[in-house]
This record gives sequence, structure tokens and C-alpha cells, in this order.
Amino acid sequence: MFPLTEENKHVAQLLFGTGTCPRCIFRFCGVDFHAPYKHSYEELLNDIQKFLKDELILEVPNPPLKKIRLQELEDGIDNPSQNGENKISVIEDGSIASPNSNLNVNVCNVCLGILQEFCEKEFIKKVCQKVEASGFEFTNLVFSVSFPPQLSVREHAAWLLVKQEMGKQSLSLGRNDIVQLKEAYKWITYPLFSEELGVPIDGKSLFEVSVVFAHPETVGDCHFLGKILPDCFKPAQNKQSVFTRMAVMKALNKIKEEDFRKQFPCPPNSPKAVCTVLEIECAHGAVFVAGRYNKYSRNLSQTPWIIDGERKLESSVEELISDHLLTVFKAESFNFSFSGREDVDVRTLGNGRPFAIELVNPHRVHFTSQEIKELQQKINKSSNKIQVRDLQLVSREAIGHMKEGEEEKTKTYSALIWTNKVIQKKDIEFLNDIKVHLFRHRVAQLKSITPSFHAGSFGYITELDQWGISRTDKGNLWVKI
Ligand SMILES: [Zn+2]
Repeated sequence: MFPLTEENKHVAQLLFGTGTCPRCIFRFCGVDFHAPYKHSYEELLNDIQKFLKDELILEVPNPPLKKIRLQELEDGIDNPSQNGENKISVIEDGSIASPNSNLNVNVCNVCLGILQEFCEKEFIKKVCQKVEASGFEFTNLVFSVSFPPQLSVREHAAWLLVKQEMGKQSLSLGRNDIVQLKEAYKWITYPLFSEELGVPIDGKSLFEVSVVFAHPETVGDCHFLGKILPDCFKPAQNKQSVFTRMAVMKALNKIKEEDFRKQFPCPPNSPKAVCTVLEIECAHGAVFVAGRYNKYSRNLSQTPWIIDGERKLESSVEELISDHLLTVFKAESFNFSFSGREDVDVRTLGNGRPFAIELVNPHRVHFTSQEIKELQQKINKSSNKIQVRDLQLVSREAIGHMKEGEEEKTKTYSALIWTNKVIQKKDIEFLNDIKVHLFRHRVAQLKSITPSFHAGSFGYITELDQWGISRTDKGNLWVKI
């Protein structure tokens, strides 16, 4: 059903006549239901032309004349100067963008082609081919689109034009009465994407497809705003241009109507070309894997040990685990976190120390429990320095819990001490009297507080914490007398 009514005719006529596309006309007429936007572009063009021509039929009193006029319009020989009847003048304006001048390729002066060829199945297919070629595993997706900032300027100009015309009829048009370009674009393209890829569009999906449009020809549209409202356009890091969408929107909210009209044509000029696609990108949100590890080597650091660019040890716990995960998840990078730390020459025994790894931009994300089990076996077979257990996919929140646990856990240490003399009973009594608190302190502190102990006079300390971790450590002993 064609959504415009008699009330919209004047605005439709005005916009169509200045080179605005049918879908943008719907937007400015406040058509806020999806169906009309989804019709094919050709169909819409025909419908709107018919709709506007009906105006001619209605207003021209003499039927034979009406027929002639219609014929003339279609043949492209319409000559406004020969139209004696004033009532036809509206259509005369409309004939600026008349179908005989290849309206099919006329680029909309408001959306710069976004609601024209970039809504067509052909374009959607092109995006979907890219998505499929990207090799990401996904069961739903979120689609994001970025339009060139000058579209907001053009939208503003068209709004002022329509507002003024409606004002003449004592009607008003607020900016919120216009359906946003992004909304209309979503209504049209979401079902097409969903159909083409066979998965639903879901705002909560971790898989994101983003399309960035640019329109080099009209890049200068925003520049006058910078001169009038320089405060809105401050250089920002990571931004190539000060004319960001947000800055432009801010300036448009501030600028006085008369200033805008002086600087920018209302209606906006018709561009030669449609937008270009700057990039089509796919990305998957991070997934998290957690587990526990045991470390059996006294020559293995937790994280890569590199000093001044020089590697001190050939591997690390982090690398032995993450290398496998990175490959299997086909992730771009990772962030490793441990529940606590241990030194290079300290073993981690018992149930193992909890760890978690964030896999950034993973291409593979769906695994059966059997596959995870096999992955764990693969890690364990690859090195005798570490072993991994309880490997599993977890939520981001679970990582937080692991970190909280690190803060709260209490530790119990026992120490095995070597001395350079035979231990007497009184020595044991002396030791028993010492209240030992074990925190993160170094051997040097032990030496300074208890001179009776010499370097080398003690061995390892075994730690048992609430995680059931037992580990040996000779560096974390702090003695308080
Ligand atoms: Zn348009």
C-alpha cells in the first residue's frame, strides 16, 4: 500500500522536484512503518510518479488537456513556459527530476544513494559474500553502519526546506518527526541480510558486521560549520578529521537557521555519484577460556621473561597454553590472567593455579566438550613442564570472580629450612616462637629482619591456599618476630 496521502503531496512534490529519492520522501513525510520502504526502488519510483501525476489529474479541470499534459511529461517534452494553468506549476517543479531524465540513476541529494542502490539486493549480496569469505563462525549477527557526516548537513538542509514549506500551510515539522536515515536503512536491509546469511540479526550478538560509507565529492559540505562554530570541532586523537558525525550533529544543534541558510543550499545540490563503500569489516567479540595449571619446572616463568628486548627463558606458562588456544580459536590475540603469581624457579603443584585467557577476535567459537577435552590433551602432550586441567569456555563475569578470589584468598605456608649447623631442640623452639606471615616479600627482607638466618639457610615454602594450590616458593617469606 502506498503510504503517502493527500496531505503529504505538497512535501513529496517539493522534495521529488529537488532530487530527493522516494524513500527519503517517505522519511520526511513521517512514514514510520517498515513495509513501504521495502518495495523495490523501481516500484517506489513508479508509485511516487503516479502519485504526483494524480495531482495533475486532480487539478487540471479539463480531461483532454490532462491527457496531453501526461503524455508530454512522459515524452520529456514538458515545457513549463507553455503551461498556462498555474495549478500545474507544482508538477513543473517535479519535472526537474522527471523520469525521462534517467531518474533511475539520479543520486538522491539527501541520502547520497544510501536508500537507493545500497538497499538493493545486489549490494547486500556483496556484503554477505565478504562476510562468508571472512571465515568467522556465527549463529547471529549485529549489523552496524557508518554514514558520512555530511549526510547530517544535507538532512538538516532538507528539513529546513520542508519545514519552511509546511510553515506556509501553518504546519510544523520537528526534527524528530522525520524518520532517521539509519532506521529506514535498517528496516530495509536487516531482513535482506538475515535471509541471505540464514541467521537472525540480534543486537546482542558477539559477531559484528560493519559497513563504512564515504562520499568524497561532498566532503566539503561540513566545512562551513567549522568556520561558524569552531568550538564544536576540536582535534581528537585517532580521528582523521575534526568533522566527526558527533561534532557535526552538535554544530547543527547550535547553528542558527538563518546562518545555515546563508551558507548551505536548501534544498541541497544533487551530487554526481553515490557514496562509496570505505570498508566492510567483520569482527567477533572475545571469548574466554579458563582452567588450572600445574607447573613442574623450576626454569619456567609465568609470562614471557624479556629484559631489554632479550629473552631470558625460551618459553613461559602463558605461551605454552595460549599458543594452542590461539591456533584452535583462530584468534587475533589474547590476554592472559592468572590467579596470583609464582616465581620462575617455583613449582605449582596440587590442584593447580587458576588461569583465564581472553581470546580476541576469534574466528572459531563453537566447541563441543569433547573438542575442549582434546584441546586440553593436546596442550598437555606438547610439554612436560606444565599440565592443564578443567579447561572450559567461561563467561566474562567468571573471569571477574577469579580475580575477586585472588583478593580474598588466605594462604598457609609451611617452610622447609636448611641450616649450616645441626638443628638443636632449642632451635626448633626458637622457630616455633616465630610468627610467620607470608606475603609478597623477598629474601632480603627475611635477612634484614632475622639476622640469625643467613642466605641459603632456608629452602622452600609450601603454600596451600583456598584454591587447593600447593606450591613451593623460596622467595615469598617474611618473618615477623
Ligand atoms: Zn534518499
